[in-house]
Amino acid sequence: MTPSAERGRGARPRQPRRRKRCRSVRTPATAGTAPPGTAPPGTDPPGTDLPGTDLPGTDLPGTAAPASPALGHFQTLPLELFQMLLNYLPVKDISTLSMVSKSISARLIRYIATAAGSRRLLLQDFHQEPPAPRGAASILEHYRALGLLLKRCTLLLPTRDRLRSVQRLLQGVSCFKLSGCAVPLRCLGLRCYGEFLQILTAGWDELECHRVFNFLWELSNLARKVQTVVSSKPGSARRLELRIRLFCRGVLLSPGSRRSDSAFWLTRILKPWPMVNQARLLYIIFGPVSSRDGHVVWQKMTEGPTDESSLKGLADAIKLLYGTEAREWTADDVISLVDELSVVPQEWLMENNARLLLLSGNSICFTFLASKAVNGRAVELAKLMVFMVLVCEKDLYCMDWAVRMMQKVCKVFSTPWERNNFLQCLENCFARMLMDMLQAVLAGDRDEEDSSFLNLFHLMNAQANFHKEILSLAMGSSSSSST
Ligand SMILES: [Zn+2]
Repeated sequence: MTPSAERGRGARPRQPRRRKRCRSVRTPATAGTAPPGTAPPGTDPPGTDLPGTDLPGTDLPGTAAPASPALGHFQTLPLELFQMLLNYLPVKDISTLSMVSKSISARLIRYIATAAGSRRLLLQDFHQEPPAPRGAASILEHYRALGLLLKRCTLLLPTRDRLRSVQRLLQGVSCFKLSGCAVPLRCLGLRCYGEFLQILTAGWDELECHRVFNFLWELSNLARKVQTVVSSKPGSARRLELRIRLFCRGVLLSPGSRRSDSAFWLTRILKPWPMVNQARLLYIIFGPVSSRDGHVVWQKMTEGPTDESSLKGLADAIKLLYGTEAREWTADDVISLVDELSVVPQEWLMENNARLLLLSGNSICFTFLASKAVNGRAVELAKLMVFMVLVCEKDLYCMDWAVRMMQKVCKVFSTPWERNNFLQCLENCFARMLMDMLQAVLAGDRDEEDSSFLNLFHLMNAQANFHKEILSLAMGSSSSSST
C-alpha cells in the first residue's frame, strides 16, 4: 500500500538541492518538444500517398525500362546510368527524390539492394578508436538520413512488410545484430541501428510500434536470451548480459529519443516479466559496469558504499517509469520495483538504497518512505532516514531537504504515538550507528583508506547538521544550510 496523493504526476521528480558545489536539477534531456505522436521535422506521417503506379519493392524491369510517365525525364536514362548518378547524390537528396513517384522510389529500393548501392549507403565504419566524436556524429547522421530515405521509400507498405523489406536490406550489416560484432564496446553499430529505427518509426502509432518491438524481439530471439540471463546466476552469462544491455540501450532506448518513446520501449522490455525479473533486467540494462570489460558489476551495491555515477542509470530509469510518460506503471508498481531492485543480487547496503532514492527524485523518495510509514515499519524507516541524512552529508546535498522530507513523512502517521515512536527510533538509530562505528575505530580495523574513521566522521557531521536544521526550524529562524 502506498499513498499516491503526493505523487507529483504532473511534475518531473526533483532532487534535493546541493550545498557547496551546486549542480542543476538533473533531468535527462529530451530531444525536441513535439507532442507525442507527432513526427520530428523532416519525417513523414505514415500513410501519406505518393503519386505514381508501382508499389515500392516490386520488381522493375532491368536496363530496358518501359516508358513510365512516373519516371519523367529519367525514363530516357538506362538504369545503370541512373544508379551511377545516385552515387553522386547526398543521401538526403536521394530521400527527397524518392518522394517524386512510386516508380522512382521502387528504383531507389532496387539501387540500395545492389552491391554498389549497399556499399555506398550501408556504411560499416563502426569501429572508431575513441575519441572520435566527429566521426561518430557523421556516421550516426548518415544512418538518420538513411532511416528517412527508407521511411519514404516504404511508405505505402503495411508495417509488417515495411519492416521485412527494410530488414532484407540491412541483413548484411553484422554489427546491427545482437551478437554480430566482435568488439561491441567499441562499436557504433547498434547506436546507428537505433538512430535509423528512431527516424523510420517516428510518428507511427502505438500499435505499429508494438509490431516493431515484436519484430525486433523475434528477430534477435530476445525472449529466450533474456529468460536465460534472468533465470541463471547473476554474472554466469556475462557476455550475454552485456549484449542484451548494449542492444536495449543502443537500439531501443537510443540516447536521442523522446522521453515518451523511451518510456514506451522500456515498458515493452520490462512488462512481460514478473517483478523479480524486471528488477534483474533493469540492473543488467542500467546498473554499474566495469570500465575494463563493460560487464555488469553485480557486487557493486553489496560490497561497499557506491558513488552517484554507478546509480545514475538506474535512478534515471526509475524516474522515467514514475513519470507521466510511462502510462502503464502505477506508483505501486514502481515502488515495488525499487524494493525488488534493492535485493539484486543480494540485499544492498542501506546507504546505496538511500542514495538511489535521493537520485530518483523527491516524489519517489517520499512515496517510498511513506509506504513504510503506512505499513508500520518504523524501525526500517528510521534506519533509511538516517542513511539519507548521511548521504546528504557525504554528497553535499542541503540538509534542510532531509528535515523537510522527515516532516512530510511524520504527517503520514495516523496517531501521535506512532509518530513519536518513529522519532525515537530515528534517534536510537543515530546513537547505535555512531557507537558501532566508534567501536570499529577503537578496534583498530583500519584499511588503507581508513574508512571506519571516515565513516564515523561523516556520520557525526551528518547528525550535527541534521539537528542544526531542526533546531533552526524549531526556533523559527531561517535555514542554516549554508553554514
Ligand atoms: Zn561492430
